[in-house]
Amino acid sequence: MQTLDQLDVNGKRVLVRVDYNVPIKDGVVQDETRVTASLPTLQHLLARGAALVLMSHLGRPKNGPEEKYSLRPVAAVLERALGRPVKFIASLPSSEETRRAVESLQPGEVALLENVRFEPGEEKNAPELVEQLARLGDAFVLDAFGSAHRAHASVSGVAGRLPHAAGLLLHNEVEALSRLLHDPARPYVVIIGGAKVSDKIKVIENLLPRVDRMLIGGGMMFTFIRARGGQIGKSLVEEDQVAYARQLLEQYGDRLMLPTDAVAADRFAPDAQTRVVPADRIPDGWMGLDIGPETARAYAEALQGAKTVFWNGPMGVFEFPAFAAGTNAVAQAVAKLGNQAYTVVGGGDSVSAINQSGQASKVSHISTGGGASLELLEGQLLPGVEAMK
Ligand code: AMP
Repeated sequence: MQTLDQLDVNGKRVLVRVDYNVPIKDGVVQDETRVTASLPTLQHLLARGAALVLMSHLGRPKNGPEEKYSLRPVAAVLERALGRPVKFIASLPSSEETRRAVESLQPGEVALLENVRFEPGEEKNAPELVEQLARLGDAFVLDAFGSAHRAHASVSGVAGRLPHAAGLLLHNEVEALSRLLHDPARPYVVIIGGAKVSDKIKVIENLLPRVDRMLIGGGMMFTFIRARGGQIGKSLVEEDQVAYARQLLEQYGDRLMLPTDAVAADRFAPDAQTRVVPADRIPDGWMGLDIGPETARAYAEALQGAKTVFWNGPMGVFEFPAFAAGTNAVAQAVAKLGNQAYTVVGGGDSVSAINQSGQASKVSHISTGGGASLELLEGQLLPGVEAMK
């Protein structure tokens, strides 16, 4: 990818695609992680004499502008984080009004455009919108790693029309995740959890041949346990993935580690009755909602001495404290490796779990892009990354 240093930005207006798709409640930003993550790139460009025009999407508006998807609340957060005024441009990004507003920007000034998904052409990568957006800058920087897997107008579209470079966040993410695919230090241990095998199939497939151990947890464990002929009661299962799980077990059985015990519940509720049972003997009418204590210990042991670790997906229904122990145990075991290993956590839920455990600072890299990080690890080419080459 082209780097920021290769781009001439002094005295230029730089259009920067950021990922400010943040949770907002009653007009208040609930989590500023993504705004903070964009600061190094913005500060770098400002220090080099650029004026900045920032664009992002927020949520999934379907029919044009809608107040609840407005980026206005983000402008205030950014202003505080950046320590300088941020001009919010409320007109549609494609409008003449927006073009006039950005033309008056001076070096060192920052403007944030309204949600690009208010434009019907954004997700279609419509050529007219690409032209209109390209007119807003002299150069383009893509820093929205979380959107890099989208071939949208504001991501890969404008890159084709302006001199461009990858921002620091995009660059770091791609480097950090690529280390998991190319020549990882060994032993290499991957932990995969979450609800469904079907969401993670391609990642599992691409990583299994490269790893020494893959530890399975979360709802998806029961599809594997069923494939081995275990009793799973009312646990989550994807019947159409059982044959595939069986095939993986046959081919990679020595690398795949499955839970031996589980925390079973009589219903899906925070105050359900619970029992620790063998993972392949969930009683009729009960459901497994977490890995059990024996499995948590075994997984922590399997992580000891690892030199490369990737974790995606919770081990159980960690939103309910009664089923969070397995996920917390994995968070602790990953964090305990400290700088003895290269550790990466990706995907919204595992990131919140590591944050909740207070151990985030001990992890080598926390990925800000859920879908994008998975697609990269599936071995797919991301349109945004390709456009920066
Ligand atoms: P994912 O988005 O695929 O990473 O899945 C995360 C979701 O999986 C979380 O909301 C968890 O509550 C859920 N989950 C984890 N383990 C289980 C389980 N044993 N049964 C049902 N849902 C689960």
